[in-house]
Amino acid sequence: YLHQSIFKQTKDFNEGIIQWRRCVSCNKYITFFSRGKGCTVHSWYLNKKNIQVPCIGQYVCEALQSCPPLCNPAFGDVKRPHCICCLCYENLGGHIYHRSGIRGKKASTCISENLHANDITKGLEFIGNLLINIAHTGNNEIKKNILIKIFETLLFFLPLKSDSTTSFSTSTANTSTDYKEQEKIVLNEPPSLFMIKTLFIKIYKEKECKNVEINDFNEFGHTFGQKLWNSRLDVNLKKSAIESPQTIQEYYNAFPEFLKNFFSGMIDELYEKKMSICNFQRKKHNKPPKVKISGQTIKIVTFITSMLLSLAFPHLKVWLPQVLASLSRMP
Ligand SMILES: [Zn+2]
Ligand SMILES: [Zn+2]
Ligand SMILES: [Zn+2]
Ligand SMILES: [Zn+2]
Repeated sequence: YLHQSIFKQTKDFNEGIIQWRRCVSCNKYITFFSRGKGCTVHSWYLNKKNIQVPCIGQYVCEALQSCPPLCNPAFGDVKRPHCICCLCYENLGGHIYHRSGIRGKKASTCISENLHANDITKGLEFIGNLLINIAHTGNNEIKKNILIKIFETLLFFLPLKSDSTTSFSTSTANTSTDYKEQEKIVLNEPPSLFMIKTLFIKIYKEKECKNVEINDFNEFGHTFGQKLWNSRLDVNLKKSAIESPQTIQEYYNAFPEFLKNFFSGMIDELYEKKMSICNFQRKKHNKPPKVKISGQTIKIVTFITSMLLSLAFPHLKVWLPQVLASLSRMP
C-alpha cells in the first residue's frame, strides 16, 4: 500500500541495500531499507535540502506535502539525503502510521484523530521560543535584522485606530480588511525598545490577564513532566553547555526556555510578595525600601532546573549536580 509494485520493479533489485544513516535530529544511527540513495517516492526537498523520513510516516500524515517553493517532492532526484528517524519524526510534528490491531477495524490516523489541529499554535510557540534562543545567543547583526523583520510583520497586524479594541486575540475574519489600512512599513534600523513596548504592551497585557487558573495540579504536573521529557532533543543539542559550560550564563542559557520561564516566574512572584511586606514594614519605620537584587532569581532557577534535568536525563552529566556531588565526596 505504500509503494506501488510497478515502481519497485522498475528499479534494479541489485541496488537494494540496507543503509546506515545518522538521524540529523538525534544523531542516532538508523537503518533505511532502500534502493539507491533513498526512497524515491517518499523523498522531499525542503528548502532545497533533501529530506528522508520513514516511508511509513507518509502513508496518511501530511507533515511533508507539496508546498512550493518551500517543499517539493524529489521525484527520484535524491542527493545528500538528510534522514530523520521515527522518534524524531513524531517529535517534530509528523506521525507514523500504525495498523489497526483488530481486523476490519480502520486504523486511527493523525487525520482521523485530528492530531494536526494545533499545528498553527504550536508553530507559533516554536517560533516564539526560537526567537528567545536567538535573543540569548545569536550574533548582533542577525538579531538586529530579525527584530526589524518581526517588528514590521507584527506592526502590520496592529489595529490602526488607537481607540480600536481589536487585537490579535479578538480579531475575527472580517477584521482582516483592516490590515490593509496599515501601510507596509519598511525600516532600516530597529525601533527603540520603548517604541516596541509602547506599541504592543496593550496586547501583551491582555494576554497576561487571561492567564488560566489551574485547578488540577496533578494534571498540571503530568503535563509539565511530559514537556520536560519531550525537551530531550533540545537538551541534547545543548549537551556541551549543560555538561561543561564556560560561564554560568552559558549554562543558564542552555536550559529549556519553558523551565526557566516557569521557575523564574514562580521565584519572582515569591520575591515580589516578600519584598512588598518587607517594604511595608520599612516604610513604617521610615527606612528606604529594599530593591530587587537581580541575579538572585537566576541563581535559584539555575539550581532547581539543574536538579530536574539530571533527574530527567541521567545520561547527561549536568554540571551543577556533578560539582555538588564531587564536593560531598571530599573528605
Ligand atoms: Zn532521530
Ligand atoms: Zn518510500
Ligand atoms: Zn500527521
Ligand atoms: Zn508511534
